[in-house]
Parts: sequence; structure tokens; C-alpha cells
Amino acid sequence: MDLLGGSADPVAGELICSAKGCRGEARWGLLWNNPRLHTPERRKVWLACDTHREHLEQFLGARSFWKQTVPVTELERA
Ligand SMILES: [Zn+2]
Repeated sequence: MDLLGGSADPVAGELICSAKGCRGEARWGLLWNNPRLHTPERRKVWLACDTHREHLEQFLGARSFWKQTVPVTELERA
């Protein structure tokens, strides 16, 4: 099953939360797109631990960049 349509950037390296200063294990992948930088179907990926998922979603959502959050197990690995 490919929920992401193959458009999300593969995740390289360790699955560590993207929040600044956090080294927590990532549980979630936040898919986002900045229309000024990326083609519409492109999905950049931020990783988030349980603690920072909501914070990062709000950060991206406030800029209208947030698209979708998926379990980290559904992300394509580089
Ligand atoms: Zn975190």
C-alpha cells in the first residue's frame, strides 16, 4: 500500500525528531510543501516524536505548508 503516492522525499539516516534540540525517536512523519519552493506534488518530510508532533504540525500549519501526518513506518527510507 502506498499512501504517499511516491511523492514524499525518502528519509535518510536515523529516525530522530526534527524539533530543535530534540533527540527523541521519531514516531511520525509530517509531510509538507512550500509552494514558493516546491512543485505542488512534492512532499518534504519532517520527523517528529510524540512530544513534538503537535508543535511541528502547528508550525507548518500556521504557514499553510502542512499536508499530512503519517506513522514513520509508512515513510520511504533512503
Ligand atoms: Zn521531539
